[in-house]
Amino acid sequence: MKQYIVLLAVLVSLKLAAQKQVVITIDDLISNGPFKDLAHIQQVNRQVLDTALTYGIPAIGFVNEDKLFRGNEEADRKQILEDWLKAGMDLGNHTYSHPSLYNTPLEDFKAEVLKGGVYTSQLLEANGSQMRYFRHPFLNTGPDSTTRADFESFLAQEGYIIAPVTVESSDYVFNKVYANAVLNSDTTEMKAIGEAYVAHTLKMFAWFEEVADSTLGREIPHTFLCHVNPLNADYLGAIYKGLQDQGYEFINLEEALKDPAYDHVDYHIGEWGVSWLYRWDKGNVKQWLMAEPALDPEILEKYNN
Ligand SMILES: [Zn+2]
Repeated sequence: MKQYIVLLAVLVSLKLAAQKQVVITIDDLISNGPFKDLAHIQQVNRQVLDTALTYGIPAIGFVNEDKLFRGNEEADRKQILEDWLKAGMDLGNHTYSHPSLYNTPLEDFKAEVLKGGVYTSQLLEANGSQMRYFRHPFLNTGPDSTTRADFESFLAQEGYIIAPVTVESSDYVFNKVYANAVLNSDTTEMKAIGEAYVAHTLKMFAWFEEVADSTLGREIPHTFLCHVNPLNADYLGAIYKGLQDQGYEFINLEEALKDPAYDHVDYHIGEWGVSWLYRWDKGNVKQWLMAEPALDPEILEKYNN
């Protein structure tokens, strides 16, 4: 009996250790485009929120506040952010107008962060919360180590925690092609692109699980990046379902960042925004990028045309 209990305890702890976890992070609120009209933006956000609620997902949305100020639409656009908080989601700062730290003078970039957090901070505070997280546009963390160190001490001083990304699946590529199909009312193409996106995303999860295993020797709570756009409005549900079927549990950013993996040094300097898993593996970013599963050439061609 005693041995049986010990065995059971071991099995339970193994099960706990093997629990896959992910935080869903959604960038470029209130719209990653390409459609610019308010009704469409409202619809996309509604669908993204409804899907998150269906799967009980505590997502975080990263805001570009410049998208709120469109004349007489301002109140309705601000309402979208309120809807996110009402749905139990969190919000973070993604700069005012989405410049890259790679080619923006540091002082201008800092001003973008301050300007980009004004309304969202007020809203979070009015809801008994506070602004905590910053996500770099294009995942660019700086053109050189000095700029980067200066910017990161500024972020810390302003009370921001960097929101890293371990998994992304080039949703912007699929979304451009998908939006084109939406414009042409081509439902066959929409379905094909949507399904290809879901399959590619699940493949990228499997890939980054392998990378974590190979570089850190274990699984970690992943941070998934996608954008608020028509493709994700229609297909995030299928991705959540796929992840759930693979045993993933959806957690919030605070919980994910408690994992000591996120204390590793980010060694990457350069123009391209890449997974933090690659950044932590000093000197090997290029090798990892080259080994990564490629996008379907047919979709890439459509994206480039
Ligand atoms: Zn962005």
